[in-house]
Amino acid sequence: MKGLPTERYPRSSPRLQKKKERLFLILILCLPLLFVSPVSPAAQDYGDRDIISLSGTEDILSKLKGLSLDFLMEWKGRVYIVASPTDLVRLQERNIPYVLESDRFYRRLFSETAAQTSLNGAFHSYAETERELMTLAQDHPLIARVVDLGDSLEGRNIYALKISRNVHLDENKPAMLITGCHHAREWISVEVALLFCRHLLENDALNADIKALIDSGEVWVVPVVNPDGLEYSIHSYRYWRKNRRNNGTASFGVDLNRNYGHMWGYDEVGSSSDPDSEVYRGTGAFSEPESQAIRDLFSRRDFRALISYHSYSQVILYPWGYKHDPSVDEGLLAGLARQMADLMRPVNGRDYGVERAGDGFYLTNGDTTDWAYGEYGVPAYTIELPPVDQLYGGFFNSEADIQSIFAENLPAMLFLLNWTVSDSGSDLPFRSDSPKTDTKRKPAKIKSPRR
Ligand SMILES: [Zn+2]
Repeated sequence: MKGLPTERYPRSSPRLQKKKERLFLILILCLPLLFVSPVSPAAQDYGDRDIISLSGTEDILSKLKGLSLDFLMEWKGRVYIVASPTDLVRLQERNIPYVLESDRFYRRLFSETAAQTSLNGAFHSYAETERELMTLAQDHPLIARVVDLGDSLEGRNIYALKISRNVHLDENKPAMLITGCHHAREWISVEVALLFCRHLLENDALNADIKALIDSGEVWVVPVVNPDGLEYSIHSYRYWRKNRRNNGTASFGVDLNRNYGHMWGYDEVGSSSDPDSEVYRGTGAFSEPESQAIRDLFSRRDFRALISYHSYSQVILYPWGYKHDPSVDEGLLAGLARQMADLMRPVNGRDYGVERAGDGFYLTNGDTTDWAYGEYGVPAYTIELPPVDQLYGGFFNSEADIQSIFAENLPAMLFLLNWTVSDSGSDLPFRSDSPKTDTKRKPAKIKSPRR
């Protein structure tokens, strides 16, 4: 190799050379700074958070209004919260008694990690979810198809699995949507969604009832709505909840389940305008690509029911969440939820509560179910999966709980799918000026599915 074009560049004068050396020195001294992100790691240190519990009495709960706390779950009459030092000060200022629970939960967390082969053990990471969906579609190419709904903020794909006969045709059959992992730390919600896919696909050839559902309906499953958050929860901070939006001002994340466009930002009780809050609703309705992906999917298909999986309160919630008042379809929404809970109870003996979301421990505005019901008039449920593993009484679900939690949710999902399909072409949307009765809505009886 010869003739490098050094002659193209004018030679530096001694003065210019000095200047260059000084510049070089400055560059070397500043080099470490180039590797520091605009927000310092300290700003993202969540090691100062505590888990606390409060008595779930009306009196205490009314005092919590407007504090925008990060509710983890309600359990046996107590409310569990991930609290920052500021939260603790505010609770003390209001004379609200709390119990410090961190010791119990963090100890559990460590023993859990040690027992697992990797950070997330049997729970699916983003890449593992992607592989599982691809495998399911490859193994069942006529009835399963992976659909990329768009990119997350950090460029990961938001995947849906469509399950239906002639899955590659656009037949627009009555559809049900199942979503998991709006909230990053709620790993069990991914598992229930994925296992439902596998169950339907593997039983299509074995079980006439499942086959009939796949013949006449569409199931859309989005196991991970918040892939960036999920990865952050696995690798950086287990209790992470929101997506990974950089809000500026050293704060990260929008609560995707406060970012939907029905009654978005209705008040400061059911969501927060403070970017630091764990229930920060974002700068506008559907400001986030992850909630946009669900919105856009919903607008393209004939969805007639929705279950959004969360954890950890062992309860079935239905609209409204943004206010205490019931909707005009209270009877129908509550009736379907009660039937789901009745089907779930015998499986493991776990009793899922049935509550109107706004009647429970706290209000929520901008959530998925208020939006699906409010905009499309379809029954929409948040199912909060159980918090406590039967062996240790800890907080996060152990790997050993995955199958049993899925098993008890299966009849509820099949029930609602059956309802979706058998009710096709009837009097949806729900909402009307005069309340309806549910006498016409007799879902086909579900036989216990073959294992
Ligand atoms: Zn959640």
